[in-house]
Amino acid sequence: MTAFSLDPEQTAWCTELRTLAEERLRPLAEKGEPGRVNRPLVAALGELGLLDRLFAGEGAGGPAAEQGALGLCLLRESLAYACTEAETALALQGLGAHPVAAYGSARQREQWLAPARAGRAVAAFALSEPGAGSDAAALALRAEPDGVSSWRLTGEKCWISNAPEADFYTVFARTTPGAGARGVTAFLVPADRAGLTGTHLDMLSPHPIGALAFDGVRVTGDDMLGEPDRGFRVAMTTLNRFRPSVGAFAVGMAAAALDATLAHTAQRDAFGAKLKDLQAVAHQVAEMATRTEAARLMVHAAAAAYDRGEPDIARRAAMAKLIATETAQYVVDAAVQLHGARALQRGHLLEHLYREVRAPRIYEGASEVQRTIIARELYSAEADGAQPATSQPATPESATPESATPESATPEEPSA
Ligand SMILES: Cc1cc2nc3c(=O)[nH]c(=O)nc-3n(C[C@H](O)[C@H](O)[C@H](O)COP(=O)(O)OP(=O)(O)OC[C@H]3O[C@@H](n4cnc5c(N)ncnc54)[C@H](O)[C@@H]3O)c2cc1C
Repeated sequence: MTAFSLDPEQTAWCTELRTLAEERLRPLAEKGEPGRVNRPLVAALGELGLLDRLFAGEGAGGPAAEQGALGLCLLRESLAYACTEAETALALQGLGAHPVAAYGSARQREQWLAPARAGRAVAAFALSEPGAGSDAAALALRAEPDGVSSWRLTGEKCWISNAPEADFYTVFARTTPGAGARGVTAFLVPADRAGLTGTHLDMLSPHPIGALAFDGVRVTGDDMLGEPDRGFRVAMTTLNRFRPSVGAFAVGMAAAALDATLAHTAQRDAFGAKLKDLQAVAHQVAEMATRTEAARLMVHAAAAAYDRGEPDIARRAAMAKLIATETAQYVVDAAVQLHGARALQRGHLLEHLYREVRAPRIYEGASEVQRTIIARELYSAEADGAQPATSQPATPESATPESATPESATPEEPSA
């Protein structure tokens, strides 16, 4: 397979996923309370085997079309097209549970990863704080020693998806004051630990999210994910793993908005013809389609490059997330315009997408942070005397897999 077209199995899987999302997941999403964790939906994602796809390479098995970063992008794009709530529920399980899959002990994996994969336990990723968002290394939640191999967590986390309803949290805490990214440790904290409380936050999008307060929450070495003071790497590995697929979520929304617009403008009467017969309208639709396709290609190419172990993943993933999330905003806004007032009525698909599409430009690295990463990678390649990264596409033959792993993220990278 090249990065520029999907094979028949991949295309068939996308079609199957859209149907599954329409028929099995959308009805559950519609029954859920907006802005709250929808446990029946998470359970259904588990029963359908879709959560397993988040942990490909972790014994997930299954057809090749469904594997790897590209498989994850196809999954997220297809779910987003048909049911954004299902897509979000799936992605949040991935963010919260990936650190356990990648760094957890056998006990942690059995106790928490297995039920998270099955959709029976809800996971959350707790990095951001009121004073540390893009600059995640500035996080201040303290882990103070409390005996041998034991700490007390004190502080706050903010805008944590699935909080406060999750069953467990991957929490990033400061174990070495003043050490920046190198003084952070990751802990798996069950939701029922004494001293942990949370509140809901109401957002523009119907997104389950909240704030957490830690008042001397006790954790031990058994709760640690990875090594002491190496928790920032756990966070970056997780964010890097999912970055291209945030772009896929955006592409799915753009594609849904585009298809709705094609259908609407083809049947809407205006000035003695249909809306599509107005050249300004047709050109706008052409622009939307072209930008969506360009974004999709960049997302697929970044994911396929990740799967091939090519170098330059950081730049490609950042470009993919940037172009896709910005494009989706443009396309959904244009779709609203071409639908007129009906698009702004509560319950209309575009009203829903208009609220959903805004957040991905901020979370998992705001667009400006992606530009910072892209520029840094370009200048660092230039300083190394490498071919300009944009003038020569990397080939599988020239790839050095070791350099492409998520571990290559520098701890200083602002990525949350
Ligand atoms: C829907 C949603 C879900 C979220 N879920 C989670 C979650 O599950 N877990 C979690 O830990 N966090 C989560 N977050 C928080 C998210 O990671 C942060 O919002 C994000 O990191 C940005 O931080 P901030 O909001 O504090 O903005 P700030 O860091 O204050 O940045 C504000 C703005 O400043 C500009 N800016 C920042 N840095 C730079 C830079 N280097 N160069 C140029 N401009 C810059 C950008 O325009 C940016 O949008 C979520 C957020 C949202 C909206």
